[in-house]
Amino acid sequence: MSAASTFAARKAQLVRRLAGRGGEMRLHKRTSSNLFRYAPRREARRGLDLDGFDHVLGADPATRTLDAEGLATFESIVEHTLPHGLVPLVTPELKHITLGGAIVGIGIESNCYRHGFVHDALIEAEVLLPDGRIVLCTAKNDHADLFRALPNSYGTLGYILRAKVRLMAAAPHVHLHTISFDDPVAFLEAMRAATGRADVDFIEGLFYGRERLFLILARFEERVPRTDDILRHNIFYKLVTREPDVYLTTHDYLFRYDPEWFWNLPEGWPYRLFRRYAPAGLRNSGFYKRYTGIRNQLRSALPLRPGEDEEPLIQDWEVPWDQAAELMRFALSEVDLAGKPWVATPIRTPASPTLYPVRAGVLYFNLGCYCQVKKRPGEGDYHYTRIMDRKCFELGGIKMLYSSTFLDEPEFDRIYNGAAYREIKKKYDPHGALRTLYDKCVLHR
Ligand SMILES: Cc1cc2nc3c(=O)[nH]c(=O)nc-3n(C[C@H](O)[C@H](O)[C@H](O)COP(=O)(O)OP(=O)(O)OC[C@H]3O[C@@H](n4cnc5c(N)ncnc54)[C@H](O)[C@@H]3O)c2cc1C
Repeated sequence: MSAASTFAARKAQLVRRLAGRGGEMRLHKRTSSNLFRYAPRREARRGLDLDGFDHVLGADPATRTLDAEGLATFESIVEHTLPHGLVPLVTPELKHITLGGAIVGIGIESNCYRHGFVHDALIEAEVLLPDGRIVLCTAKNDHADLFRALPNSYGTLGYILRAKVRLMAAAPHVHLHTISFDDPVAFLEAMRAATGRADVDFIEGLFYGRERLFLILARFEERVPRTDDILRHNIFYKLVTREPDVYLTTHDYLFRYDPEWFWNLPEGWPYRLFRRYAPAGLRNSGFYKRYTGIRNQLRSALPLRPGEDEEPLIQDWEVPWDQAAELMRFALSEVDLAGKPWVATPIRTPASPTLYPVRAGVLYFNLGCYCQVKKRPGEGDYHYTRIMDRKCFELGGIKMLYSSTFLDEPEFDRIYNGAAYREIKKKYDPHGALRTLYDKCVLHR
């Protein structure tokens, strides 16, 4: 059977399964989620099992397009396309992020300044609506309103069963060149200038303080003098700050933060052994996510809980480029990451999606933080998330909603275009079978 006919068969089976079932709907899937919530979420009442919808249906080298089901992971997509010398325009760095999840959850990478977000590569999507209908949406058809509202909808308008996206040519290797700075203004200026260079394909910054900043400019290469290892022997984020030139396979570059889950794999000796000898299948963010979930459950049962003086600061903020220096200044003076880096990347998008109203064509500065921070006495819960969010919004910025957010509904509506959301929600989910964006992303209901 062809990939298209097996997809058609899965769809028909899904429609039969859903016929006559009303009530609330919530996605269940096999791969680990990359949503991060500071507090546990309420359990689903009725799961919608879309597990089978994880196939790559095919890549067409002639048109440089890919057809894949919504739950196909970027790992499986890249496995399929790289042998053809192609990769998605934007590939999120964690292997188990899915195509559908990245479209509805604002996927980013170090080449967003050139290609926009993951969703900017979307050509068409087949979406399962809450009433069980499946519609095809494109930028120009009768469901263009849904197409424009998918980014940042987090599955509250419907579920992407299949998506067609644009691909780009990729060489087998990537050469990374790191430049050190001891001044944030010079660092930012070099990052901005690099966005205009044709000989650079990826731009990313890692910084630890005002005097310790690293700009990493990377480009595709057909041939390299050596290939550096980032699975067993080197830790990627340390390697690039130590070596001015690093050479990776394209696969390793795209998923460079996956083996360490950024910097969340601890440093002690058991972990050194784990890095060296654990089966490759366990050296990935999906395994760590499941492992930390179980560990946290066990810890919560202990009378004296280790790590109680820490809380997560796992967030991404974007501000217009002219506010980048101020966001960096604020982050560095107010938040102590205890030796872990901040990550920065420039972003420019070709379009402004309905529910994530960044300005099209304007350069933004994305700042990410993916670690635990120490709580100081007298500070309220999630103090650092709250002050960074507030600063970002004051600077005319916006933040992604994959992690916890503390906003009242009127302000949330102002930032994420609540009026337009209500209209589209009324049209595609009139009976509220799926939660609202505010319920899901702020109240975690
Ligand atoms: C620690 C951490 C690091 C991250 N790093 C990156 C990164 O490097 N690059 C990046 O781009 N992003 C990153 N993200 C954000 C991530 O891309 C988003 O959270 C994304 O939505 C996750 O997609 P997923 O496939 O894991 O989906 P899930 O986490 O399972 O789901 C995310 C949301 O999307 C909905 N959803 C999932 N699949 C579909 C579908 N087919 N149709 C409609 N709705 C769907 C779910 O209901 C849910 O609301 C990171 C997040 C975390 C927590």
